[in-house]
Amino acid sequence: MAAHTITLIPGDGVGPEVSDAARRVIDATGVDIEWEVHDAGLDVIDRYGEPMPPHVLDSIRKNKVAIKGPLTTPVGKGIRSVNVALRRELDLYALVRPCKWYPGVRSRYDDVDLVIVRENTEDLYAGIEFAEGEPPTHELIADIERLGGRAIRKDSGISIKPISITGTQRVFRFAFTWAIDNGRRKVTAVHKANIMKHTDGLWLRVAEQVAREFPQVEFEDRIVDNMAMQLVQKPELYDVMVMPNLYGDILSDLCAGLVGGLGLAPGANTGDDIAVFEATHGSAPKYAGQNKANPMAMMLSGVLMLRHIGEREAGDRLEAAIASVIADGRSVTYDMKPQRDDPTAVGTSQVADAVIAALR
Ligand code: NAD
Repeated sequence: MAAHTITLIPGDGVGPEVSDAARRVIDATGVDIEWEVHDAGLDVIDRYGEPMPPHVLDSIRKNKVAIKGPLTTPVGKGIRSVNVALRRELDLYALVRPCKWYPGVRSRYDDVDLVIVRENTEDLYAGIEFAEGEPPTHELIADIERLGGRAIRKDSGISIKPISITGTQRVFRFAFTWAIDNGRRKVTAVHKANIMKHTDGLWLRVAEQVAREFPQVEFEDRIVDNMAMQLVQKPELYDVMVMPNLYGDILSDLCAGLVGGLGLAPGANTGDDIAVFEATHGSAPKYAGQNKANPMAMMLSGVLMLRHIGEREAGDRLEAAIASVIADGRSVTYDMKPQRDDPTAVGTSQVADAVIAALR
């Protein structure tokens, strides 16, 4: 029996190519992994009747660890995101997104080493929405006015923003523990508590309470608009930042932009005992099947996964090998070259070859 059994969902679009590259470099570290490969997404609906069939969820529940490629969500066809459904179904409430600059990456910044921990289940992304013009929406508007809220225009659509003590406590406890386990020095709570007193205000209050349980880690808070400016002006001041869902979504793209873009941004969706690792980027359909996409975000997600399963040394070695390929600058994909049509750019699988060579 292998030391670790891990669920692998290749994904669609560029997913299968970047997943294959990531799997090859993870295997090349020598860590003994048995992969349970399962397809999911739009392509399996004909076969199983749904995009995330129960046997795939069962495999993740059994193994507790999965790595997945991106899955396409068609725009405006009434199909809900499989990625969001997966996070909800497995209660993966903390999304960890490290944004680290590696020497050799073309960016306006250097020396950036930030981590966003995004609450993944609540806030305006909870999916509680009321469409303009429908009877339940009119009823809700009437109820809010009756309960002492302000007048709301009758032709409004409404999205609800729940933020709970339970949800906030667990994501901050997770973030402080992650900070300690990974040698980080500071946690910053991000919020808009001055305006949204009963949601972001609660978030900040609970954050301050949880911070007292972890006196060994420095704690501070920032208002989200100020945070956005400071990240652009002096990102070196920050370390681990914990944010509600919406701000986390927006600022993680900002942070990915600080360190060279989506091709280099890994992620980990984590719950109490299950973790699903995936790149921040999507399925980039226009590059599907062309051996063109950058597999490094998926490989760096593999680095996070190796550390998570207790194979820290292998994770560090893989990260160092990826960093050396970046620093060398020859075996990198188009997005890491000065010009996007640079003829010296290599393909997805050649990046994996170079990383494997650097591991030896
Ligand atoms: P995207 O991240 O797929 O692509 C945006 C652009 O970024 C691409 O056109 C490409 O230029 C660049 N890019 C992305 N990944 C790259 C890589 N690995 N290497 C080089 N360049 C890369 O975002 P999108 O176009 O908004 O979304 C496409 C689909 O992916 C949508 O259906 C969306 O719902 C889905 N998506 C899935 C996930 C997920 O599975 N977690 C996340 C985001 C988007």
